[in-house]
Amino acid sequence: MAHNHDHDPSHAHEHGHDTQSASEQAMLEQAQAKLRSLFAGMPHEVPLYLFASRDREDVFAKAARDVLAAIQKFTSKITVEEHDLLGEIAKKWNVEHSPTMLFDPDIYHIRWQGAPLGEEGRTLVEALTMMGYKTSRLSRESQEILAKIQSKRDIKLFVSSTCPYCPQQAVNALKAAVGKPDLVSLEIVDIQANPELAAKYAAKGVPMTFANDKLIAQGAQPEELFMLSLEKLEPQTYFIPETEATEITTDLVIVGGGPAGLTAGIYASRSGLQAVVVERNALGGQMALTPVVENYPGLTQVGGKTLVDIMVQHALEYVRIFPGEEVVDIQQQGLFVIQTSRRRFKTKAVLLATGASHKKLGIPGESRLSGRGVSYCSTCDGPLFKGKKVIQVGGGNSAVTEALHLKSIGVDVTLVHRRDTLRAQDYLAKNLFASEIPILWDTRVKEIRGEKSVEEVVLDNKKSQMTETLSVNGVFIAIGYEPAVELAVKIGVALTPDGYINKDDYHRTNVPGIYSAGDVEGGYKQIVTAAGQGAGAAMTIFEDLINPYWKRQNDTPVEKSS
Ligand code: NAP
Repeated sequence: MAHNHDHDPSHAHEHGHDTQSASEQAMLEQAQAKLRSLFAGMPHEVPLYLFASRDREDVFAKAARDVLAAIQKFTSKITVEEHDLLGEIAKKWNVEHSPTMLFDPDIYHIRWQGAPLGEEGRTLVEALTMMGYKTSRLSRESQEILAKIQSKRDIKLFVSSTCPYCPQQAVNALKAAVGKPDLVSLEIVDIQANPELAAKYAAKGVPMTFANDKLIAQGAQPEELFMLSLEKLEPQTYFIPETEATEITTDLVIVGGGPAGLTAGIYASRSGLQAVVVERNALGGQMALTPVVENYPGLTQVGGKTLVDIMVQHALEYVRIFPGEEVVDIQQQGLFVIQTSRRRFKTKAVLLATGASHKKLGIPGESRLSGRGVSYCSTCDGPLFKGKKVIQVGGGNSAVTEALHLKSIGVDVTLVHRRDTLRAQDYLAKNLFASEIPILWDTRVKEIRGEKSVEEVVLDNKKSQMTETLSVNGVFIAIGYEPAVELAVKIGVALTPDGYINKDDYHRTNVPGIYSAGDVEGGYKQIVTAAGQGAGAAMTIFEDLINPYWKRQNDTPVEKSS
């Protein structure tokens, strides 16, 4: 029974959990209603074939069956037929692994090996709706690239249910397979359900994409870059549209969709400004890669990716967001003209909330073995190393959080830190010591070795001056971030001696109309401080656009007439 004083704020502390679960329930119901209407609107049925063993030990088979049964409760537009793995149908379609799903196999060549769990649930919904609506939703530029492909492309995409970047890449691949079913086939491979296949392709970092057995991408790409990589059959790093992109005129372009950019979007739009957020990768920035966040006020403990989803959902109430769209140029021609990989924005003000990217150790073997045992994201790649031996390099909050996360999911992790004291906060340090994770103090990694994937590291101890090799399967690196300032430099924004954006207390840079917020400003680099900086910057921008500070005369107070 509901408590009749639930709405009495004086009792709020007693009912925190009730309130939270009620709002969670409401969110869940909203999401379910959205799914129902999405499926109901599909003009075409999607036949789905499931091949899954009845072996009780096959947890992925059971999970796949459960997920599909749940989806069928929402709609009759998706029909699921389960077939025997040893039967004729399996033979006809060449299915050997459990579980395998085939989507409308008379039309498309899309097969999914594994169960669509966790992050992959989003991919499944995208796949079903693309086929149900018979539309690939490809951008014009992507369609043009795809049209150039004249021979077969067999895509193999390795994903994991815990990787927040994977759905973006999976959707790219699905768009290609739905957009060009005659030539493009797609196999989505969950590495946890298919460890042998992942080992065969040395896919130790996800998402990892192969086409015709050639590596075409490591990590998630903007859509056009994916299509270009698929066309060229090798990884592409930039894409310049061949035709004039669509143009959008707005008051504010926020570059970066992490906590600073998303919060700025909310604040700017609520002030009455027209604002857009442009993000080259997946939304959330570093926040999406943090396994657990325990210091965001109001949320005792929340997964980084969950917090991203909450913030994005909130921001979308106010602001248009363009993910997977990279800013390639920025010019001032009266207004600022921002050219992205897809279109052009004309704007009065620009907020640079570009964040920071992982620092590299810069040692032999690091780049070559990146994605092959070297990782900067324990949330994404940690599960692959369950039961295996890895080192976690660094002594700050990130390294300690990630070492604890790795240990908690069953990875045999050793922390390697170059000094004899941690930089991490006391609370985390205490957790680390209590966890009994071995720590190699005063130790630097000199080299990472391995032929196809990481096999060993060479370690140098500063105090004993001893060099030793340690056999490991993985090297996780969390040694801080480098600010992403390329755009800032391009438009003439001054930097601090440490390389961060130089700004005043109100987030104004030296270039009138250009502002900054979040990790790119240096400072504490917390999710909550980034959000605060985004809010502050948006309020300054609102005030400046009404009354530009660069046009303001020396304000002299108006004398009161007596
Ligand atoms: P950080 O605080 O800058 O720490 C970097 C660590 O890596 C330091 O221990 C540093 O050693 C070590 N390091 C740097 N360069 C190295 C190299 N070339 N070789 C070996 N070791 C190297 O970075 P972070 O831990 O990634 O955190 C970045 C920011 O995010 C911080 O402001 C942090 O507070 C914040 N953060 C907050 C949370 C949270 O509050 N929940 C979680 C994660 C991160 P030295 O100590 O010797 O310099």
